Amino acid sequence: MFRKKLVLKMSIFKSLFVDCSEAAHCCDKVQYEEASFFEKLKIHLHLIICKPCKKYSNNNIKLTSLIKKADLKTCTEEEKKAWKEKIEKEISKKES
Ligand SMILES: [Zn+2]
Repeated sequence: MFRKKLVLKMSIFKSLFVDCSEAAHCCDKVQYEEASFFEKLKIHLHLIICKPCKKYSNNNIKLTSLIKKADLKTCTEEEKKAWKEKIEKEISKKES
């Protein structure tokens, strides 16, 4: 019984410490606000011990804030369709 509890505690402990690729994946999920509480905990623990991932995370945060500041707007579907038709027209002109 004691051994089972110890194994369970060890597996929870192990799952909190992730490698860099999983940390990067969690970091991206945090940026897109898709990370669970457990994933946020994992990334915070990893960032304490891993400098390259800390740098990656800081760059991610900067990029996200710049994109928010830029207030980017996307084309409407009609505008996209008009652009596509114009491009195709230009391509067909050059081919003939
Ligand atoms: Zn790392």
